[in-house]
Amino acid sequence: MTKSIVNPNHSIHFGEEAWGALNNILTLEDWSQIFILTDEVCHELCYPSFLKNIGDQGIHLICIPQGELSKSIEWAKVLWNEMAQNNGDRKSLVINLGGGMVSDIGGFTASTFMRGIDYINIPTTLLAMVDASIGGKTGVDLGPLKNQIGVVKESKGIFIITEFLKTLPEREFISGWMEMVKHGFISNVSYLEDCLSIPKLDHSKIDELIRGSVIIKNEIVSKDLWENGRRKTLNFGHTLGHAIESFCLDYRPKGYIQHGEAVGIGMILALYLSSIYQDFPLEKAIYYKKKINQRLPYFSFDFNDQKNIMSYLIHDKKNSHGRIKFVLLRDIGDSVIDCEVSSKSIFDAFDFWQKRS
Ligand code: NAD
Repeated sequence: MTKSIVNPNHSIHFGEEAWGALNNILTLEDWSQIFILTDEVCHELCYPSFLKNIGDQGIHLICIPQGELSKSIEWAKVLWNEMAQNNGDRKSLVINLGGGMVSDIGGFTASTFMRGIDYINIPTTLLAMVDASIGGKTGVDLGPLKNQIGVVKESKGIFIITEFLKTLPEREFISGWMEMVKHGFISNVSYLEDCLSIPKLDHSKIDELIRGSVIIKNEIVSKDLWENGRRKTLNFGHTLGHAIESFCLDYRPKGYIQHGEAVGIGMILALYLSSIYQDFPLEKAIYYKKKINQRLPYFSFDFNDQKNIMSYLIHDKKNSHGRIKFVLLRDIGDSVIDCEVSSKSIFDAFDFWQKRS
């Protein structure tokens, strides 16, 4: 996996080439100060590789606690202060070394510090490689409400080094895999089947599949950065997925559910809703439900949980005028945006998901 993807304002680099391209950006441009943001886990597991390949170069390290709870305005304030107190100015650069939590908050603090400075992403989770690091959506959560505060500003470059995945726990791997599956649902059946057929944790085939996902996401966001149309299809599974994640952040023990796991459930619910509202074949919905459920830990939401989850739908950023909007499928690769559905059909969708057969 080598050849870079070149966009007008930034490029996406892969594998061994990525270290060289990163070094070029760091040394050829006249940065007044470079900050590297990471979390405590990536500091231990990924930062040594950064130092080995890039060196110290006087880069100012900022390390925050791992986990979604650090993706907050309080931590953003800590980062703004750290930059202000360490010679950050408009010609400074932020490097985000970590998963989606790090790239979201790091991209947000960079994009708002002094009205916006450059940042680059070195994703270290599968989810961040195929999804979170691409497309310029940055932000923080507002309490349990996901991604409520943020800006869209593309990074200066994305450097995908799959070596980092060697230390990634299986659950995190599956979480990223769910977003790859989503790319399959909204784009093409052959990519979807390739993703569904890789055995758990088979890293040997993952590089090409990662590249496939990056191409799909990059192609969509480069044509619709501001989400006026096609970019909305990337939200397939995310309307209820985000509501489930918010509900769990509020009511369940820390780490109960991963972003990708919530999206996995959200996609099954959306497949059922697609069968009701868009004539998506029910037998296909059942087939894909089994494939996704096989890789999900056991979760269960009773009727009260489901009512609570639905109360979070009102905060979804795809809504307008108080109407909740879903992305549904007519078929694989044939999405319909801005669909409205009834509450009853959402309860039925939960029944469909929870019937494991
Ligand atoms: P994460 O960044 O919290 O990482 C998950 C865990 O893996 C953390 O504990 C982290 O320390 C650890 N980790 C990271 N790299 C590792 C490695 N190489 N080896 C071992 N452990 C490692 O979570 P994530 O799943 O990467 O991303 C989820 C976040 O991304 C959510 O906040 C979600 O909202 C956001 N997201 C953003 C976008 C976007 O377009 N901006 C898209 C999808 C998801």
